[in-house]
Amino acid sequence: METLGRMVRHGSAQEIINIRCPNCGKGMRITYVPHGKKALGAVCPSCLSGKWINGVSQEPPWVSELGNSFETGGPSTEV
Ligand SMILES: [Zn+2]
Repeated sequence: METLGRMVRHGSAQEIINIRCPNCGKGMRITYVPHGKKALGAVCPSCLSGKWINGVSQEPPWVSELGNSFETGGPSTEV
């Protein structure tokens, strides 16, 4: 899961959009909380595995392109 954590902090938009759940292989919901202690989450809506990172020091590079919250895993964002 450390790779996933590094990815959501430093990955490009292109890398982020290709993240799949390491447990079930489906798309994940990626969330950046820009206020308070600043948190990053990558959680699988299907099997609920994933992780949250608190205290992110800077905005990840993908936020400007993809927004604060989106789902990876294909052309359809809502399944
Ligand atoms: Zn999953």
